[in-house]
Amino acid sequence: MSDFKNVKAGERVPFKSYAVADKNAKFKLWQGSRHPMGEHDIIIEIKYCGICHSDIHSAKSEWHEGIYPMVPGHEIAGQVVAVGSKVTKFKVGDFAGVGCMVNGKCGCPACSADMEQYCEEGKTVFTYDCADIYHGGEPTYGGYSDNIVVRDEFAITVPSSADLARVAPLLCAGITTYSPLKRFGIRPGHKVAIAGFGGLGLMGAKYALAMGAEVSIFARNSKKEKIAKDLGCKALYDSTDARAIGERFDFILCTIPANYDLSAYVKLLKHGGEFCVVGLPPLGERPSMDVAELVFAGQKKLSGSCIGSMKETQEMLDFSLKAGILPEIQVVKANQIDWVYEQLLSGAGDFRYVIDMSTL
Ligand code: NDP
Ligand code: ZN
Repeated sequence: MSDFKNVKAGERVPFKSYAVADKNAKFKLWQGSRHPMGEHDIIIEIKYCGICHSDIHSAKSEWHEGIYPMVPGHEIAGQVVAVGSKVTKFKVGDFAGVGCMVNGKCGCPACSADMEQYCEEGKTVFTYDCADIYHGGEPTYGGYSDNIVVRDEFAITVPSSADLARVAPLLCAGITTYSPLKRFGIRPGHKVAIAGFGGLGLMGAKYALAMGAEVSIFARNSKKEKIAKDLGCKALYDSTDARAIGERFDFILCTIPANYDLSAYVKLLKHGGEFCVVGLPPLGERPSMDVAELVFAGQKKLSGSCIGSMKETQEMLDFSLKAGILPEIQVVKANQIDWVYEQLLSGAGDFRYVIDMSTL
């Protein structure tokens, strides 16, 4: 563990982490420092960090050229160890969570409407692989680390009774699936399909079921069929052959991180139904469709959704803990990150892996 608990006011905050040196590198122990804690910042000792498929895309520069060394991780749960002089939201000892954003929120229409993840001025600072415009443009480093310094507004309040290992994935997988389902107004009578049954897909299924919908899953094989049925899902279909399905859906939430047949899925919507993209495949492997198909498709809608605002993330966390909607996780050691990536990329993986930071 680095000596982050003993930093003096104005000093940079040292951290220990697992980082990749370039897009082909394996994870190695790496020590760096974060910006000093400002008056509105807190320092969180990270207890658990979930591994999201976005971490894999980023570490391998699949979306854009990454900033290296890179410390991924944006499903962070831990305990506050220091608070800035103007912080009232947290005190030392509180549990807290951090998702995909660590700073931002300007006066633009999106930020003013509590949708800072879509800031129109580009002022949102993402948790890692991002230039921090509020700190001289230095890179941000994520949660595969023993601590993080974050503006209080961008940390989520977590009750002291919560299981931090299972809270961590809510900070990205939870909010990213909760937000579009809530926005659509999923309710009893709706037929929902979730495409891709991994970390996000499982949470999407749990939320849609909790909102009263009839839920079906699209997955590459039937090995997760029992899990889907035990959850209360109606059916598990083959995600690689969506054209063959007879059913029609009000809402399809797609979490697939690779190319797929988009027009086949759009055909599975009811008149006026919506296909919402959250899975973000690598550049050059993204599905597309002929706009003419949309014209003749029957007023079906295509949409995308990016995480959720801090306000909605707090709402999601409170709702999830109250309703007992939590991820299925396997807790791993910090030196197993490369192995986890291999599991997720080969299709052999569990729903969510969470790093126990005491093993760092
Ligand atoms: P996981 O790896 O946990 O799950 C993805 C699932 O998609 C797999 O379990 C698998 O399900 C299916 N899948 C994987 N590869 C393929 C393939 N080649 N063809 C068809 N299906 C495939 O990933 P996450 O759930 O963590 O993330 C999913 C995606 O969502 C990623 O692209 C990630 O970057 C993105 N994301 C987007 C966010 C946003 O704000 N929009 C936020 C967080 C993540 P099965 O075995 O059932 O087939
Ligand atoms: Zn994520």
